[in-house]
Amino acid sequence: MSTKPMKPLKKPAQKVDLSQADTMKCEKCSNYLFITSYVLKRISALISPTGQEGIVPIQVYSCGNCGHVPAKLMEGSGVEEELS
Ligand SMILES: [Zn+2]
Repeated sequence: MSTKPMKPLKKPAQKVDLSQADTMKCEKCSNYLFITSYVLKRISALISPTGQEGIVPIQVYSCGNCGHVPAKLMEGSGVEEELS
């Protein structure tokens, strides 16, 4: 007998014509290949819901060429844009 909960079935993805979708390009160098990066936020015990210090990773995408992270992806991360 399995006690594992059933995974909810994913809704069938709607067909999207990606040729009609915008390709995000690096604002700095127009490269369109991005790599996943993580911004690491250190949570102090004072604001942590568990009362313990911890590190929370925020996944962002950075330009595979120059490393620039689109400002849009940094929204809400609390990281100031240093390059301008
Ligand atoms: Zn770039």
